[in-house]
Amino acid sequence: MDDYSKHIAIIGGGISGLSLGCFLLSENIKCIIFERSSKIREGGAGISISPNAINLLDKINLKESLSNEGFFPEKINFLDEDDPITSIESRVCCISREKLVSILYKRFIELGGKVIFDHEYTSFDSDTKILNFKNNQSYKILHLAACDGIKSKIRNDFFDFAEPVYSGYSAWRCIGENPHKDAFLQLSANKHLVLYPITGSLSSFVGCIKTSTENNESWIAEGSIDELISDIGFMSDNHRDTVHSSKKFFRWGIYTRPLLKKYFAKNITLFGDAAHPIVPFLGQGGCLAIEDGFSFSKLLNDNKALEDAQKSYERVRKPRVKMITRLSKEQALHNHISNPLLRKTRNFLMSKTSIIDKQMDRIYKFNL
Ligand SMILES: Cc1cc2nc3c(=O)[nH]c(=O)nc-3n(C[C@H](O)[C@H](O)[C@H](O)COP(=O)(O)OP(=O)(O)OC[C@H]3O[C@@H](n4cnc5c(N)ncnc54)[C@H](O)[C@@H]3O)c2cc1C
Repeated sequence: MDDYSKHIAIIGGGISGLSLGCFLLSENIKCIIFERSSKIREGGAGISISPNAINLLDKINLKESLSNEGFFPEKINFLDEDDPITSIESRVCCISREKLVSILYKRFIELGGKVIFDHEYTSFDSDTKILNFKNNQSYKILHLAACDGIKSKIRNDFFDFAEPVYSGYSAWRCIGENPHKDAFLQLSANKHLVLYPITGSLSSFVGCIKTSTENNESWIAEGSIDELISDIGFMSDNHRDTVHSSKKFFRWGIYTRPLLKKYFAKNITLFGDAAHPIVPFLGQGGCLAIEDGFSFSKLLNDNKALEDAQKSYERVRKPRVKMITRLSKEQALHNHISNPLLRKTRNFLMSKTSIIDKQMDRIYKFNL
């Protein structure tokens, strides 16, 4: 049996696992990533990374890579159907998910990290600290970091057995051509559409709709442009142009799980979507995962003892996660208002007060 008894074993090589790995190694803490797939992969969509996470990625020298591989839109333009509401300066980086994970993976390897592929976690003995995989491999480890996403088996095994719950929202996503340097957020009754540039010529389209129809078979299913158009209905010109130039269309069911009381158990800590999957209406799920990895690594380096770091991690992360979970849910309600009078009021507040900037300041400000 290989001995990783001095390593933190990270299960999952997504945004949370890779960023945690980078932050741990940058604090000289040994770790190893186990990923069930045969390679690092992500695809089919873009992701926006806001300053709270950009500033942390900067600490592991990734800001330049974000600038090179992604795109910083100049402005975010808000529209009610086709009518402009307001326009604000953008502070986010937009990038294809594939590029984001490959930047993180490259940095992890540069820092001396190793990912062991084709290893699907099956069980862990938290007393002996023996970790078992589907391929019958077993390893003695120091600590288990669960970065295995919303369907986390580790969460099911040690924390709660509640199945992920359909949020009532689904999202259509595709990547197509769009020469604009700005992002566009179009608000409508029971839906909102987001368009942001991820390179100088490509944009990521996300159309979120309120619908009781779940994707029963799969959370992410490939669909056709006709299905997208029939679900989404009216689109402004920019959104329509991007959709029509796209080749692949994906429909994502949006699921959540109840907020957890505990983020850790004996020799186990939860991160990212395994700890706190949220609705994506403020684009914060991946950013919170990055904050988690940074916080835990820093606290572990400060505290030295794992048990103390776990307690401090839970103490600092729970209130912030709770706040962003609540704001994300509320955002969908604001975006999807159908009552004309309320819509007018919302648009007035967005255009004539500093409500958007205040909200962003609140989310983007992250201090450990
Ligand atoms: C429509 C939509 C739009 C979004 N937009 C944004 C946005 O703009 N900005 C933002 O910050 N966030 C956004 N998010 C949220 C973000 O995508 C997630 O929060 C983030 O991807 C979570 O990363 P993770 O690493 O925790 O989980 P995952 O990405 O799910 O990664 C989990 C990894 O664990 C591996 N794994 C799973 N089980 C096992 C096992 N048993 N053994 C070994 N490996 C395993 C998987 O193969 C995978 O590699 C969006 C989400 C949705 C649905």
